[in-house]
Amino acid sequence: MAATKEMGTGEEEIHGVLIIGGGICGLAIALPLHIKGIDSLVLEKAESLRATGAGISIKVNGWSALEQ
Ligand SMILES: Cc1cc2nc3c(=O)[nH]c(=O)nc-3n(C[C@H](O)[C@H](O)[C@H](O)COP(=O)(O)OP(=O)(O)OC[C@H]3O[C@@H](n4cnc5c(N)ncnc54)[C@H](O)[C@@H]3O)c2cc1C
Repeated sequence: MAATKEMGTGEEEIHGVLIIGGGICGLAIALPLHIKGIDSLVLEKAESLRATGAGISIKVNGWSALEQ
């Protein structure tokens, strides 16, 4: 993942975030960035997204983060 920043002004402003990989982590980053008004671009090498596994276990800290 990389972010483009305006440099040299003393202040760094994030204009956009490039996210490599549209797995759960990539998408979990893209959503809150969108909510905060920060543009992101998710690049995924697979032609389609497939569900893998049986379920997701979310512990207390995970639920706390999701509720924010
Ligand atoms: C068979 C199997 C069963 C599983 N079952 C469970 C389960 O039941 N419950 C559970 O919680 N977890 C399960 N897991 C683990 C879970 O899948 C991973 O922890 C989780 O997917 C990791 O998410 P991620 O976003 O970090 O990576 P990934 O899900 O691997 O996503 C990374 C993405 O990046 C893409 N990518 C990689 N390189 C590039 C590139 N250079 N350019 C563009 N795109 C790229 C890949 O195509 C992929 O889509 C299972 C894993 C496997 C393999």
